[in-house]
Amino acid sequence: MDQIDMGFVEECEPWKLESRFFPNKVGGKPAWLDLKDLPSAKYVECKSCKNPCIFLCQIYAPYENNENAFHRTIFIFICKNDDCCKPNENGNLQVLRSQLSRDNKFYPFEPPNEQENWRPDINSTKFTKVCQVCGLLGPNHCGKCKLVNYCCRQHQIIDWKAGHDKKCSTDNINNDSSTTATKNTLQSILFPEYELIIESDVSNTKNDKSDVNKEEEEMKKYEKLLENGEAGTLQTCDNVNDDLLKMAAGDEDKVFIKFQNTIRDDPDQVLRYNRGGVPLYITSKNEPNNIPNCEKCNGERQFEFQIMPQLLNYLNLPANVKSLDWGTLLVFTCKNSCNIESGYCSEYIWKQDIL
Ligand SMILES: [Zn+2]
Ligand SMILES: [Zn+2]
Ligand SMILES: [Zn+2]
Ligand SMILES: [Zn+2]
Repeated sequence: MDQIDMGFVEECEPWKLESRFFPNKVGGKPAWLDLKDLPSAKYVECKSCKNPCIFLCQIYAPYENNENAFHRTIFIFICKNDDCCKPNENGNLQVLRSQLSRDNKFYPFEPPNEQENWRPDINSTKFTKVCQVCGLLGPNHCGKCKLVNYCCRQHQIIDWKAGHDKKCSTDNINNDSSTTATKNTLQSILFPEYELIIESDVSNTKNDKSDVNKEEEEMKKYEKLLENGEAGTLQTCDNVNDDLLKMAAGDEDKVFIKFQNTIRDDPDQVLRYNRGGVPLYITSKNEPNNIPNCEKCNGERQFEFQIMPQLLNYLNLPANVKSLDWGTLLVFTCKNSCNIESGYCSEYIWKQDIL
């Protein structure tokens, strides 16, 4: 069986999540890998509303045997506009890949020293203009003070309303977001920031036979529940989200049962990393097909990892209203992780829903 790594969300001091430490993280601004050629708002725009997608999470995943990918990070962005989130469509999502050789112009050859005061100068603002609101490339600046940068007009307006209107005309302008008003507004634009802790799935090394038995057992239980018209009670872990319940109450789906069984031992997992493996689908329907080849080398893409619905629980989304949602997010990347001279290239993401 494949070795699968799982990711869990944890609180963390913000400095540990900066580029210089090659973090795995959720929310906040992206901790860019290439610090200079940042993606523009246009590059990660939502296909529906055309606004830039907002950073969701990033996974540091080097290729051991590829010297061009000694450092390698995959970034996911999502549009926060609920209306752009449609079942089994990926127009509100963007995924980017960046990679560097060990010998590069941003980072020392030796691994970082994990201390707060170690090389804080390794930062994208040293190399280019960064949007004060979201962290994307910020080619525009405030016309009045010319001291803060933005990726797009929308983010300039957001920052203006968040307090830059007052700061702009005073003497104490600086390029940080330290005032409370600014912080609050930016927090409502960005997702809450967490570290992603990645662990190997030890439960997965159990022999396959017991898994199969367990599955059959679960299936029988499920069929019984269906007969009695109470499939919705098949809630085996505490934080199964509403969609899972909706699904359980609906028609029979062995793939969904397998999904639930697989995550039962670690219900808080937000990430499953299984490069070259098979995704854990959430339903037998709406699997991705025709995954396009790599836009750089035209080579094949392969499954790399998936984001689980549990991550939604950490995003401070409004409760009880239609909001951002997914069954699972499946990420497919260039199998060879081909060379990117600089900057970022797009990879493929599919949102599988159970609707
Ligand atoms: Zn949108
Ligand atoms: Zn921005
Ligand atoms: Zn200004
Ligand atoms: Zn490629």
